[in-house]
Amino acid sequence: MIPIMRPLMDEREADAVRRVILSGWTTQGPEVAAFEKEFAEFVGAPHACAVSSCTTALHLALLALGIGEGDEVITVSHTFIATANAIRYCGAKPVFVDIEDGGFNIDPDLIESAITPKTRAIVCVHQIGMPCNLEAVTNIAAAHGLPVIEDAACGIGAEINWKGRWERIGAPHGDIACFSFHPRKIMNTGDGGMITTANPEWDAKFRLLRQHGMSIPDTVRHGSAQVIFEGYPVVGYNYRMTDIQAAIGREQLKRVPEVVAARRALADRYAAQFNDNSGIRAPEEPSYARSNWQSYCVRLPDHCDQKAVMQAMLDAGIATRRGVMCTHREASYASYADLSLPRSEAAQDHCAILPLYPQMTHAEQDLVVATLKQSCAETV
Ligand SMILES: *Cc1c(COP(=O)(O)O)cnc(C)c1O
Repeated sequence: MIPIMRPLMDEREADAVRRVILSGWTTQGPEVAAFEKEFAEFVGAPHACAVSSCTTALHLALLALGIGEGDEVITVSHTFIATANAIRYCGAKPVFVDIEDGGFNIDPDLIESAITPKTRAIVCVHQIGMPCNLEAVTNIAAAHGLPVIEDAACGIGAEINWKGRWERIGAPHGDIACFSFHPRKIMNTGDGGMITTANPEWDAKFRLLRQHGMSIPDTVRHGSAQVIFEGYPVVGYNYRMTDIQAAIGREQLKRVPEVVAARRALADRYAAQFNDNSGIRAPEEPSYARSNWQSYCVRLPDHCDQKAVMQAMLDAGIATRRGVMCTHREASYASYADLSLPRSEAAQDHCAILPLYPQMTHAEQDLVVATLKQSCAETV
């Protein structure tokens, strides 16, 4: 069986966990603090705050911006459902715009007409590790005084050309960026997330809210020679990352350059093999983006039945996934049932995500390509 993704972990991660378990401190503590520092350095961010997932990261990012009941937040439907769910956690309304022609990211040209007096923020997504057209998004946001949150769940190690220089996603180039360490992403801590920003007040807010709104963290009280009592000035959450996860994350972070390099080499190999008359269209990088290829999503030939192709692949022992979902088509978003987002819907219905992991052999990849071409030719 060729899986869609294979985690890259070995004795290094196992030793890191062992170190934490024997240290006597397992939840948010010194490992989380060290991970935050190393992550901030890696992406070039002034502040990084570790949390339990990208979903909780997005929730805290929106709360820090003061998003609440009655507010509107512009985002894409064509994303994992957590992007929009986080907006709804705040009592705000997601306003969905379509994606670009030929890509999987927000179409900046559609943002302006979606802005209303209730609009309070834009959440853009670097979908499947491909940076979105952030310069266009941030220009529109600035013209309207709106903050930009980057859903960079899949974005660690991806790069964007920012004012003539290649920089890693997460600086952040918007106001706040949110990352995921779910096993399906580039870095894996089991579950986990990170929020980066250049704003120290927001960073302080993330830290307060992730730990029950506690004014003086347990780590400070634990190390104090004086008795200190903490207060709870606001209603917070338990969105902590554990030191066990952070220790794994520190090892995973070191691997990101080699993992991204391996994924890029495999993505290039895929693209070369789809450069033929099979009708299968390889994804393309815009001039401002260098993907980390968190997912490799191809467009199937127009005549193909997506599910039949995916079933034929599965029967041959190869896992695939359909194109990224459309949130507005889900039952939990029934009030959007009449919304039409043609490019988002086409991307969900006519694309397939192919296996890609750093340990993938050329023989495995050749088998995926040959089986897909055959399935597409036979499955109409
Ligand atoms: C995976 C993903 C999330 C959710 O990340 P978790 O860490 O699982 O909460 C959010 N947004 C996008 C675009 C994702 O791909």
